[in-house]
Amino acid sequence: MAGIKAARILENAGLNVTILEGRHDRYGGRIWTNYEAMNGSTGAEVDMGASWICDDGIKNTGMKLSLAQKIPTVFSDFLNPILYHGNDSRVHDDDWKNIYKDYRRLMFDELPLSIENWDPTTKKNLKITDGDISLKVAIRTLGYSKLLSDPVFAFLNSHLIEADIGAEMGLTSAKMFEDITAKNTRIIPQGYAVILKPLVDGSNGQEQPLKILLDKEVISIKFDKNYKINETDRWLRITTKKGDLFKSRAVIITVPLGVLKANTIIFDEKLISRNVKRSIGKLGFGLMNKIHLKFNEIFWPKSYHAFGLLPNKDSCKYIKEVRKNPKRKHISNANNCSELDASLYHSWINGYLYTGQKVLIGYATGKAARLTEALSDDNIKNIALDKLREIFGKKKLNKIKVAAMVRTKWLQDRFARGTWTYHPTGSTSADLESFSQIKGPLFIAGEHTNPENYGTVTGAHNSGIRAARAVLDYLYKNYHHEYSLENIDPNLINID
Ligand SMILES: Cc1cc2nc3c(=O)[nH]c(=O)nc-3n(C[C@H](O)[C@H](O)[C@H](O)COP(=O)(O)OP(=O)(O)OC[C@H]3O[C@@H](n4cnc5c(N)ncnc54)[C@H](O)[C@@H]3O)c2cc1C
Repeated sequence: MAGIKAARILENAGLNVTILEGRHDRYGGRIWTNYEAMNGSTGAEVDMGASWICDDGIKNTGMKLSLAQKIPTVFSDFLNPILYHGNDSRVHDDDWKNIYKDYRRLMFDELPLSIENWDPTTKKNLKITDGDISLKVAIRTLGYSKLLSDPVFAFLNSHLIEADIGAEMGLTSAKMFEDITAKNTRIIPQGYAVILKPLVDGSNGQEQPLKILLDKEVISIKFDKNYKINETDRWLRITTKKGDLFKSRAVIITVPLGVLKANTIIFDEKLISRNVKRSIGKLGFGLMNKIHLKFNEIFWPKSYHAFGLLPNKDSCKYIKEVRKNPKRKHISNANNCSELDASLYHSWINGYLYTGQKVLIGYATGKAARLTEALSDDNIKNIALDKLREIFGKKKLNKIKVAAMVRTKWLQDRFARGTWTYHPTGSTSADLESFSQIKGPLFIAGEHTNPENYGTVTGAHNSGIRAARAVLDYLYKNYHHEYSLENIDPNLINID
């Protein structure tokens, strides 16, 4: 989204723009409606990346774009699942409401206040990094242990917090923690990718399609030595893994933070400041994985948005099995089973409600998400089916057949290496801000560069606008004889 949005603005401004996309089969990055995944599935039920937009009326880009393009969206109350003890027995609605209220009060009202008033100098036994502690340590130290030990709260920690932050609470900064539960969350039944198409193809019959070259994995961006390196005539040379060379006056790099952290792209020292390098190291790139199961018939309540399973003592069996394998110990060293287990396919979304397809989508977050990537498709399918049997009872799933299955492995995806940015202990907003302070000719955009909406499509989109403006400004200042930027319609730049 960041690259495509920036390219659309610059293309409309009359520049010659090329997008170099590393993947050989698609553009869109973490917006990915996987049309090939399950026969006949062409919408939200095969959204492997972003799914939700949040209609807060002012800030949300997904909403604005879908309104502008007349793409229908539907309300999705996934934050409020029906909760099961197991064996088709539901937590009573009134109990659930009270628990939820209690959780919100403790987690989003009381805890942040206690964190704000916390004085690190008097808590000598805490592990302190730059005066910050992890959310989990904060919960324990400040007297909210109930939030970790109670099974309903363990479920909510995964369903609401981990699934949003993309990392377990033991890694997340307490200081940067805020109420993250969005209101009026909506899904695009046609699939998220439809939002990108008009930007790429051009709309109004006036815009040119964007030039996207696939299979161009960039491995280095340097000053071109064939040209004088001085302020008035500088070119960048971009090299791909397969040896293609491109030169350009300016580059916006929008690869995910995970790719930057993996150091697979070499930059000239002068292109990236020390501050930015430090931020890349300090910020975290989280993980969440999905499993999409298509069935021959519907065995779940059709009209509900989401289903949740409370962790229970039997459900640790997979984690125990995985622990027996020494090679996998590193991904399964959670403090207790219920914590890890609560993050493994305990949350399910009812795809049928949005698309009419007999699809359920299960979620694995944090450590459990890493665990899923180490297991085979069959293993994963069996675990997921067992969880569904636990929720709805064995009887209901007796005659059920899985017609198709697809699951994500975002960590192993070399063009993502995770799902979205989060704040580990010790990182701050300044780390996100540092990316936009670069003065060119290399610019950086992407969700990880937006302090207001990092981790989201909106964040990526708005960072693309910011970077496109910076490029126009840079080219105009340095090469105004080459670019007649005076003629640019300001509206082209101001669309958000
Ligand atoms: C599972 C999942 C669920 C999500 N759910 C939501 C949600 O519900 N709502 C929401 O708002 N956000 C959600 N997000 C986050 C959202 O998808 C991202 O924040 C956003 O799409 C990021 O856009 P971007 O342009 O910054 O990066 P990307 O979309 O990752 O684009 C980066 C591009 O760079 C390419 N690339 C990488 N390396 C190279 C290289 N070396 N050379 C050339 N090209 C390269 C990639 O292939 C990709 O096309 C979710 C993400 C995931 C993965």
